[in-house]
Amino acid sequence: MILPGETIGVLGGGQLGRMFCEAARTLGYQTVVLDPDRDSPAGTVADQHIQADYRDESALLEMGGQCAAVTVEFENVPAESMRYLSRLCHVRPGPDALKICRDRIREKTFLQDHDLPTAPFMTVVNENQLEGAVKAVGLPALLKTATGGYDGKGQQLITEEAQLELAFTELGHVPCVLERYLELSLELSVVLARSSDGITRCYPVAENCHKGGILDTSVVPARISATLSMQATQLATKVADHLEFIGVLAVEFFLVDGSLLINEIAPRPHNSGHFTLNATVTSQFEQQVRMLCELPAGDTSLLSPVVMNNLLGDLWNDAPPPWERLLKHPEAKLHLYGKREARPGRKMGHFNVLHPDIGRALLISKEIRTALGNAG
Ligand code: ADP
Ligand code: MG
Repeated sequence: MILPGETIGVLGGGQLGRMFCEAARTLGYQTVVLDPDRDSPAGTVADQHIQADYRDESALLEMGGQCAAVTVEFENVPAESMRYLSRLCHVRPGPDALKICRDRIREKTFLQDHDLPTAPFMTVVNENQLEGAVKAVGLPALLKTATGGYDGKGQQLITEEAQLELAFTELGHVPCVLERYLELSLELSVVLARSSDGITRCYPVAENCHKGGILDTSVVPARISATLSMQATQLATKVADHLEFIGVLAVEFFLVDGSLLINEIAPRPHNSGHFTLNATVTSQFEQQVRMLCELPAGDTSLLSPVVMNNLLGDLWNDAPPPWERLLKHPEAKLHLYGKREARPGRKMGHFNVLHPDIGRALLISKEIRTALGNAG
């Protein structure tokens, strides 16, 4: 066990790294962030910010020397950097899970190999495979790059076969999956913590609404049947077990014709788990610290129904939004990530609205969003 007072680190300095550091500091750990950006959200709250490229060996050496354990903020951190660090200190999550989750081809193949349900898909690594893939998958379909995509980036919607070649070219002829575009009844997610003794604790299922490929709101608990909620939790647990995962993991689901399909796996805390910062006994970031430090997972019980609302850079028109309009609501909890520059689509923060009546929480959320200048 790595106990408070010791130093732990995170590779990557965005908002997820920041909230990891905040949770770690609350528990009494010293924190180190490695990130190339001088103003990174996590770097500014950590005890130490090593400002360097993720592949910089001397920076990794310094980090590994100082930290008892290191985790990653997101799955796209170079595998070699994690391998390098693993010779110097305790590292989580393990390389195998990261390898699978960072690549849609590996991820979907892994799910298929374990009889876990996914949308119909085919792998496309060169032009010759496009025609066969569209025959097998059907249209409409989404062509998604295997790596590097997030917030709906690296995806092209295909409605006619004739669009395929151009779409593949626009994505840069990189390995892709072609996936059937489905009529979704709902999007759901389960965040969980799995410790090295194989014990898993799941958070309540979140019901997620996306806009333009980016998460907009999460409603918790999801307004679904107890059976469906149990199925989602069981599927997420199976994913974690098959990955022999240790850490915090999020599984995204589609609900199509009453059945759950697994969309994506994130080997880390997830945007749809930000409700846990205010609405559960233990936040997903405290859980990440606990899993990294070989401590048992904390209680994942929900304290109150909650709506999580993302705040994107679109709300900033030269000046920040009028926060007083949010802060006057006692049920609303604001979290800003300290990003200097607001850009459309950039995640700047979020707010959670807690209310015993989820309908009220939704209404208050909507009122606040309108007051902040986002009529949607
Ligand atoms: P990202 O890595 O960008 O989150 P996702 O594959 O999760 O990529 O896609 C982002 C969003 O796009 C999803 O949450 C969903 O709203 C929509 N989407 C993705 N795949 C499909 C699909 N096969 N059918 C319908 N909608 C989809
Ligand atoms: Mg996604």
